[in-house]
Amino acid sequence: MMYQDTICALATPQGIGALGIIRVSGEKSVEIVNSIFKGKNLKVVQSHTLNYGYIVNEKEIIDEVMVSVFLAPRTFTSENLVEISCHGSSYILQEILNLLVKKGCRLAIAGEFTQRAFLNGRIDLSQAEAVADLIASENKASHDLAISQMRGGFSSLLKELRIELLDLASLLELELDFSEEDVEFADRSQLLQLLNQILYEINPLIESFTYGNAIKNGVPVAIIGKPNAGKSTLLNALLNEDRAIVSDIAGTTRDTIEESININGIQFRFIDTAGLRETQDAIEAVGVAKALEKADTAAIILYLVDIETLSWKEVEADLNRLKRENVFIILCLNKQDKNIDIENTELSKSTENKYPVIKISAKENINLELLKEEMYLYIEKQKASSQTIVNNTRHLNALLKAKESLELCKKGLQSGLSSELVAIDLRRALEALGEIIGQVSNDELLGNIFGKFCIGK
Ligand code: GDP
Repeated sequence: MMYQDTICALATPQGIGALGIIRVSGEKSVEIVNSIFKGKNLKVVQSHTLNYGYIVNEKEIIDEVMVSVFLAPRTFTSENLVEISCHGSSYILQEILNLLVKKGCRLAIAGEFTQRAFLNGRIDLSQAEAVADLIASENKASHDLAISQMRGGFSSLLKELRIELLDLASLLELELDFSEEDVEFADRSQLLQLLNQILYEINPLIESFTYGNAIKNGVPVAIIGKPNAGKSTLLNALLNEDRAIVSDIAGTTRDTIEESININGIQFRFIDTAGLRETQDAIEAVGVAKALEKADTAAIILYLVDIETLSWKEVEADLNRLKRENVFIILCLNKQDKNIDIENTELSKSTENKYPVIKISAKENINLELLKEEMYLYIEKQKASSQTIVNNTRHLNALLKAKESLELCKKGLQSGLSSELVAIDLRRALEALGEIIGQVSNDELLGNIFGKFCIGK
């Protein structure tokens, strides 16, 4: 698909820099840039060449520049693409953009270059999203993820899965054409096996989200416990140590680091800590509702108990209420400095095998390193168990949708549901997977994704 109009935009940040780059893409890009360029005739230069010259407005020289010419289809957008490297003065940049518009370019909207790359079939949707992640990456872990995604690691696995599913769907749909004859083209046990195999591939992808999201946005941690258990003391102890390390870094914003700590390169975010700092703790009833709400959004829960007022029955009841799939609970027995002998027997029966237990003192800084290590190791374990990592909520939702439909298919097959109904679920799963790579997409979805890009990308 080739667009009629040629677009231009500043690809480097606004403001003064040593250099600035203006990008032009579309059928007429070489012709348009050539009309404001003094130097070689760009219309006859080879693709992938760098050309020295001047940008001129009639006779007036605007700047001395280098112009890169990339001819379709081997370019980022699959269209003719020209990049003008000029000096990074905002006046020069604006003048060149004005000239380009005067000569027939249109100013690009956010993400339009990448959107063209996608619509022209050069990259799939998840790769396009990885471009945005790459630009936003601020540490090695998120950079590594974006690079592997951009190179298609995640998409190629999905494409393979989708082909297997398509085979399945077409066999089933073939049966529908012969419904009067009551034939079975698709061997049911073979189908089941294939479904299991695909679920086997999808499940680790879904599970990898905890890690992928942690890398991208920080691991959400909730500190939960009864009033006076020591929650705010623990929060302060964890934050204070970290702050001592980061306060030397010039320009670090207090606000953003205040409620998060970095353990071995992974960011842990303490969620909803506002209430923790207030001395007047919320009324218990409100506290419980709030705690459960927090548990829903956490990846890790630090459940804190004061060993002085400990009741195992209550602890167990609370843990049962808090536990969720994919949430890691660490039971922290606080105030160890008080040297109270606690009765371990009941604990070992019911709780110890289910949750890691760490004996700490938030006030006296006992075993806080151990606690941090436990949090870090949990996240590291997630990484080890999955080779391909999902870090995008849109992808996660599509995978969950696919999983749900696949499981319905499985149930349908096992209970002898008609091929027609099974085929519907299969179609749904296919659609969900197609959404990720963009084989099934709509304008709203595309607008949503590319609208988040910066202009010039
Ligand atoms: P929260 O209501 O759960 O946030 O509890 P706070 O952090 O406000 O602590 C309640 C009381 O317990 C305060 O007086 C703290 O100083 C005290 N406290 C917290 N952690 C410890 C600890 O490890 N040892 C001792 N001895 N006291 C602690």
